[in-house]
Amino acid sequence: MLFSLCYSMAKDMADISVKIKDGESLTVSASTTVKDALAQLLSGKQRKRTIAAYVGDRAVDLSAELLEDTVLIPIQIGSEEALDILRHSTSHVMAQAVRDLYGNDVKIAIGPTIENGFYYDFLRDEPFSPEDFERIEKRMAEIAAEAHPFVRQEERRLSAIETFRQQGEKYKVEILEEIEDDLISIYQQGSFVDLCRGPHLPDTSWIKDFKLLRVAGAYWRGDEKKDVLQRIYGTVFFDKKALKKYLNQLEEAKKRDHRKLGKELQLFTIQDQVGPGLILWEPKGAQLRRLIEDYWKDEHYLHGYELLYTPHIARQDLWQTSGHLDFYSENMYAPMQIDEVKYQLKPMNCPFHIGIYNSHKKSYRDFPIRWAELGTVYRYERAGALHGLLRVRGFTQDDAHIFCREDQLDEEIFNILDLNLLILKRFGFSEYDIYLSTRPEKSVGTDSHWEESTNALKQALEKKGLEYEIDPGEGVFYGPKIDIKIKDQLGRSWQCSTIQVDFNLPERFDVSYTGSDNTEHRPIMIHRALLGSLERFIGVLIEHYAGVFPLWFAPIQARILNITDDQSEYCKKVYSTLRKAGVRIEKDLRNEKLSYKIREAQMEKIPYMLIVGEKEKENGTVTVRMRDGKNLPPMSVNDFAAKVLEECQEGRGI
Ligand SMILES: [Zn+2]
Ligand SMILES: [Zn+2]
Repeated sequence: MLFSLCYSMAKDMADISVKIKDGESLTVSASTTVKDALAQLLSGKQRKRTIAAYVGDRAVDLSAELLEDTVLIPIQIGSEEALDILRHSTSHVMAQAVRDLYGNDVKIAIGPTIENGFYYDFLRDEPFSPEDFERIEKRMAEIAAEAHPFVRQEERRLSAIETFRQQGEKYKVEILEEIEDDLISIYQQGSFVDLCRGPHLPDTSWIKDFKLLRVAGAYWRGDEKKDVLQRIYGTVFFDKKALKKYLNQLEEAKKRDHRKLGKELQLFTIQDQVGPGLILWEPKGAQLRRLIEDYWKDEHYLHGYELLYTPHIARQDLWQTSGHLDFYSENMYAPMQIDEVKYQLKPMNCPFHIGIYNSHKKSYRDFPIRWAELGTVYRYERAGALHGLLRVRGFTQDDAHIFCREDQLDEEIFNILDLNLLILKRFGFSEYDIYLSTRPEKSVGTDSHWEESTNALKQALEKKGLEYEIDPGEGVFYGPKIDIKIKDQLGRSWQCSTIQVDFNLPERFDVSYTGSDNTEHRPIMIHRALLGSLERFIGVLIEHYAGVFPLWFAPIQARILNITDDQSEYCKKVYSTLRKAGVRIEKDLRNEKLSYKIREAQMEKIPYMLIVGEKEKENGTVTVRMRDGKNLPPMSVNDFAAKVLEECQEGRGI
C-alpha cells in the first residue's frame, strides 16, 4: 500500500502524453482521469456520447486515472461495447433494487450481460412474481434518478472475502476463493457493493429505458447438484425507440414460438410418458417432414450423392475405435447388453458410413464417393437444456460423408457449399453469418494437411463470393470447418450447416484406397450437415414463416368447404380428384356456417380454400380463396390442380 502511494505521488510530478487514436494528443499531469483528458480532446457532442474508453485493449471507466503515456479509444453510445457497459451497469442496479426491497432474505450470485440484455441470479425462497417485477422496476428507476456514480475500488482478495462473508454473500465468497489474483476490484453505487471487473457507466442516471422480461430457474454454476436460483432477465437501451423496437420483436417472437405453433397447427407433440426431448410427429408435422426429406433426397441424388441407411445401435467396440467412448461419452447413453456383448445408441453416423466404405476395396478411380443419410442419432442433453424442437435428445441429422483424393478436395468443398446454399435458398434463407474455424492447439494431422484443407475451405467461400469471419483455433481437433448460421425474418441467427474436414477417423479405421501407383493411400473424409437436424430446422422454419409455410411444403395445400349439404357429394368427388392429382387436400363438410369454416382454415394457415356452392357444383368448378383473404375467380378442378403443381415446381410461395 505504502509503495503504491509513493508510486502515485512520484507519478503526480510527471507529465504524460495522452493521444486519441488517430486523433489529437495532449500533455497532462499524471493521475489525470480519462474523463478530464477526453474533455480536452473531444468536442462537446463527442464527449456526451462517451461513457468509457479503451486504454490499449483494456476498457476502463471514465474515472480511471492515467499514469503513463496512453492512447485512448473512446467508447461511445452507438457501439456494441457501450451497450454492453450499459447492460452490465443495469444488472448491478437491478441487484441493488432487489437488495433494497428484500434485504438479506436474498443472496446475490452473478449478473452478466447476454445477447440483447442481461440477467442476475438470486437465491430467494419466494418466487419473484409480476408484482415483484413492478416493484423492482420502480426501485431501479429511483436509483437511476438519484444518479449514483459507479465507484471502483481495488481491494486485497482476502479482505474482500471477509467483507462478503460478513454480508452472508456466499456466492461472492465462492467466486473470490477461486480467483488467483491477489488484488481484485469492487464497484459501489449508493449503498450497494458488487464484485466486478468493470467498466461501468459514469453514474446510474444513464439507465432510463429498461425493462425486466422474465424469471427462470437456473442452477448455481449450471450444476444440477447445486442451489436452484432465480434468474431475472432484463434489457436496456440508450433510447426509448430502440427499447420499444426490441420489445415488439420479442412479442413477435412469442407469437412465432415453434412450441406454441407446433401445438396449434398439430405438427408435433412431446409427451412426458414417452420422455422429454423425444419428438412425436403428428400427421401434419410428419407430412411437412416427408416433403422436406423427399426434396432433400432428390436434390442430393441430382448432385451426385448416393443414399444410405444405417442402424441406430452398434457394438461398444465400434465407439471405442471411433474415439467416441474416450472423447464423447458424456453425450452418449449407457450401454445395453445383447448376447453378452455391449451395444450403444449412436451419437453420430460416421463410423457406419466408414463400415460401408471398408466393405469393399476402393481404388483411386472410385472417387469422389458422396454418401448421404438422414441419420437419427441420440445424444444426452440436460433436462434443463431441452427446448421444443431446437434442443432434443433424439434427432435426425441430414448427414453426408464425402471420401475423395487430395487433388479433388477443392472441387468437393466447392460443390458442398454450392449445394448447401441452393438448399437453404429453396427454404427461403439467403442471409448468413459464416465462420471458418482453423487449427486448434491440440490437433491431429500434418501441417500440410491443415494448410491444404483450410485453403480449400477458404477458396470455396471466396469463389462463391461469400463473406466470412475466421474463428482462429476453433476448428475441431481432427480438421478445419465452415459453420453457417442462417438469419430468419426477425433477424435472429440460427446455427445450421457445418462442413468439416477430418484427418482422424480415416486413420482410426484404417480407411484406404489403391492409388494409380498401386500402393495404399488414405482418402480425405469430409463430414457435412446442411440443415443440421430435421427437428431443429423444422423448428426454425416454423418460427421463420410463423407457420405460414410456402405452398411447396405446406402440409395441407387446400381445404374444400361446402356451403350446404347439397354440395357434399360433389365435394367428395373434387377431393378424390385432387388427391389423385397430387394436391395435399382436406375437406370440411361439417354443417357449420361458411364464415366459421373459413376462419378456422385461416387460423390453420392453409394456403387455399376451395369454396363450393350450387353454382360451382353445376359448373364443375371451385371458387378459390387465398389465406390472405383474396379471392380468385372460379376455376375447373383440373385447372386448380395444375396451378398448385406449377407453383410448387417453381418453389413459389403464396
Ligand atoms: Zn459490473
Ligand atoms: Zn460424420
